[in-house]
Amino acid sequence: MAEASSPIRVRLAPSPTGTLHIGTARTAVFNWLFARHHGGSFLLRIEDTDRERSKAEYTDNILDGLRWLGLNWDGEPVIQSERIESHRQAIARLLAEGKAYRCYTSEAELTALREQQQAQKQAPRYDNRHRQLTPAQEQAFIAEGREAVVRFRIDDDRVIEWHDLVRGAMRWSGADLGGDMVIARRAPADAIGDPLYNLVVVVDDAAMAISHVIRGEDHIANTAKQLLLYEALGLPLPIFAHTPLILNQEGRKLSKRDGVTSISDFRGLGYTPEALTNYMTLLGWSPPEGMGERFTLAEAATVFGFDRVNRAGARFDWEKLNWLNGQVLHALPPGELLQQLQPLWAAKGWPAPDLAAALPPGWLEELCSLLGTSLTLLKDGVDQAAPFFTAPLPDEQARAVLAQPDAQACLAALGTQLPNGPSLPTPEAQALLTAAATSAGVKKGVVMKSLRAALLGSLKGPDLLASWQLLHQIGEDRRRLMINVF
Ligand code: GLU
Repeated sequence: MAEASSPIRVRLAPSPTGTLHIGTARTAVFNWLFARHHGGSFLLRIEDTDRERSKAEYTDNILDGLRWLGLNWDGEPVIQSERIESHRQAIARLLAEGKAYRCYTSEAELTALREQQQAQKQAPRYDNRHRQLTPAQEQAFIAEGREAVVRFRIDDDRVIEWHDLVRGAMRWSGADLGGDMVIARRAPADAIGDPLYNLVVVVDDAAMAISHVIRGEDHIANTAKQLLLYEALGLPLPIFAHTPLILNQEGRKLSKRDGVTSISDFRGLGYTPEALTNYMTLLGWSPPEGMGERFTLAEAATVFGFDRVNRAGARFDWEKLNWLNGQVLHALPPGELLQQLQPLWAAKGWPAPDLAAALPPGWLEELCSLLGTSLTLLKDGVDQAAPFFTAPLPDEQARAVLAQPDAQACLAALGTQLPNGPSLPTPEAQALLTAAATSAGVKKGVVMKSLRAALLGSLKGPDLLASWQLLHQIGEDRRRLMINVF
């Protein structure tokens, strides 16, 4: 069979029957990388032909998610439902050429057939019983008031072969495709009902001059059927690449039970688009030697090819994703981190208007550079920023520390020696800690622990000196020491 040659044109064909799923997003990543690697086009087609389940809000969610991930597409998205006349024309041609036929088998008859096959432990398939109806038989069915689906003939002895860019030589037998395939839903015999997935995909991929169909391996059986449709319609064939499925840790297909699966939910949890696209690229693709595991989409595009896409399913690894997300956040310049955190802080009402008015210039950026190195998820930057915007209620361990006479003695000593004015240079802060330790007769470690408990309300958290210096700039260290010395 002839294969289409360049230019490279690929597409993502999401159905707007749900939010953008991680599996679809990963397919988008591979399509995008392949297109950008070859200087080709990455197109979008919204497959909204399932009218009952398709929703405009899902289309919006999918487009927003792709934009947020940085998977920019070329041109306007093709809306499949607007192309229904082309789909119907293709079906009419197949009917006229005898490659498809009207089938009047009722739902009840199909159910009976399936039950009989089940009882005999056979795979369910249509038995092609209406392939050769005489005009008289057809008239009799129509007179009974029966409506018809349109079925495409698939001969059992057909062998379908193609070369898959990921999986190599592929071979399917026509006998394993479930009998003659429905390509249009039930409708009165003088009409053509709603065209169905395999037919519309072939007509649209050909109309869009798609050179490479890159999609999940759950579509392999569809590919076998679609190849027969390309042949029957005399259309040029694209090249196929079936990418491995995303699996959970137990090796089963990733599902909602394994945690979130929607890109919008990952976003809500505080994952960055950079980490997600980096991670999705690694789900099934191995970077070349020396590239490491941290890269941008643009960097991956320079080397991407299907020779390094694995056949085996890709296990989803939260730890790896978290690690990557932390790496991305640590590398962000404080000003950019601030931009990402500000909306989350604003949702909490931080900084409160009084504080906002009193903040020295650059204070929020300094806070970001302090927090940046310890974040795994963006939302950690909310929890960890809390003691800088509101006086914390000390947790149980901090309370236990603060209740000790030693702690009280060194906090009192510190409180009397705090410099006035916003500046607390590091040597001065160190000298204050040493002096407080001497005057309270304790080790410096005790002073530091007590100070941390008083300032941050917890024994864990960001670097103590830097936190103290930030709080000193707004006079909060003095206030908190006073509150916590009883
Ligand atoms: N609408 C189909 C899906 O979402 C597209 C499959 C394909 O890429 O052909 O699974």
